Amino acid sequence: MKRYFKAARVLVLWLTVFSCCSCGVEGTWKLPGGENGSLSEGSSNPAETKEAGLAEGQEGSWENRENGEKTAPWQYVDTAMGTVIRQTIYGTEETAAAFSAEVMALLTEMESSELSWRLESSEVYRINAAAGKKDGCALSEEMAQLLQSCMDLSEKAEGAFDVTLGPVSRLWNIDKWAAVTDGEDFKPPLPDAIREAVSLCGSSRLRLEKGVSPRIFMPEGMQLDLGAVGKGIALSRLCELLEKQTEIAGAVISLGGSILTWGSKPDGSVWKVGIVNPFDTASNIGILSLEGKWCISTSGDYERYVEVNGVRYHHILDPLTGCPAVSSVRGVSVLSQDGFSSDGLSTACFILGPEKGMALAAEYGAEVLFVMDDGEIIMSDGMKRYFKAT
Ligand code: AMP
Ligand code: MG
Repeated sequence: MKRYFKAARVLVLWLTVFSCCSCGVEGTWKLPGGENGSLSEGSSNPAETKEAGLAEGQEGSWENRENGEKTAPWQYVDTAMGTVIRQTIYGTEETAAAFSAEVMALLTEMESSELSWRLESSEVYRINAAAGKKDGCALSEEMAQLLQSCMDLSEKAEGAFDVTLGPVSRLWNIDKWAAVTDGEDFKPPLPDAIREAVSLCGSSRLRLEKGVSPRIFMPEGMQLDLGAVGKGIALSRLCELLEKQTEIAGAVISLGGSILTWGSKPDGSVWKVGIVNPFDTASNIGILSLEGKWCISTSGDYERYVEVNGVRYHHILDPLTGCPAVSSVRGVSVLSQDGFSSDGLSTACFILGPEKGMALAAEYGAEVLFVMDDGEIIMSDGMKRYFKAT
């Protein structure tokens, strides 16, 4: 049990979902027997899978007991898309268990057939392999739409957001270093190599041919990295899954730093999503109180990083410099009705900072909250309706 609690605490990477009772205390979490240990190969985020690995070895399917009775909400912890997946589901035990399995199947499928740049089976892998080819690469309609949305966001964010920065993110490989080292062996890439990688990137050099048979044309060397939006897109798909069924009244599903709240609790109380303090990740700076459907994503410089001689090299890269973004922001949380916006904007806003970030979020009808390096909290007016500092 003690071991379990240790694992559960570590699993809370950035946002902590409080969904079991109004006092904000979570219920007991256990892992589905035998399923939790399989960390996804080709994970886009080894740092997070390393954390998830701490939860390995939990036995038995989980149950939430009060006075010896099993009670809703039903909760599940597992790993997919290189991150920890936590589900809180209100429904019968049977429907919740079946739904949670569906969630895991969908996420695993999305990673392996669409989003992973590491897995040969994925569409992104095929696209990357076709970079520089005269005929480009055929695209699914969903991928064409997603890439169009990424290009639009890139333009609106003045290039601060750019999913073509695969050459740069692979050069730094922060995920790997954050997962395996305390920084001793890490050496930042040389300036020439960074310049070379930056020269291969740039959404504006990406060409999408739309229509019945969409195609993409990428210059040689360019590589997609959808790490900044993958989990957000997954949230929107999970939302569709929830909307198709009738037996689950409410659910909160967190994929690392992206969280979906959906439906309601039987007692009518609101969802409570804690925003972790970037200066002390074991505590919250405040709570969002939310009703019904919301997507909340967070980006921060403390999520995946390696530190050498007091310099923190983190995973959010500035496409202009090809280096970890230098920002006075420590963390950004974005609240939106759709996962693409929440996830994409949180990454973009980290680089843009409060002024430009807030204007960008407004274009998407999203609310945003910044935690600055001096501890100041800056948020959009709309966010004030939901956020309460602790
Ligand atoms: P997030 O945690 O959602 O902010 O996403 C960070 C991930 O997105 C990184 O691990 C990279 O894979 C990718 N990424 C980093 N910087 C950028 C950027 N400026 N634009 C788009 N994707 C990025
Ligand atoms: Mg993001």
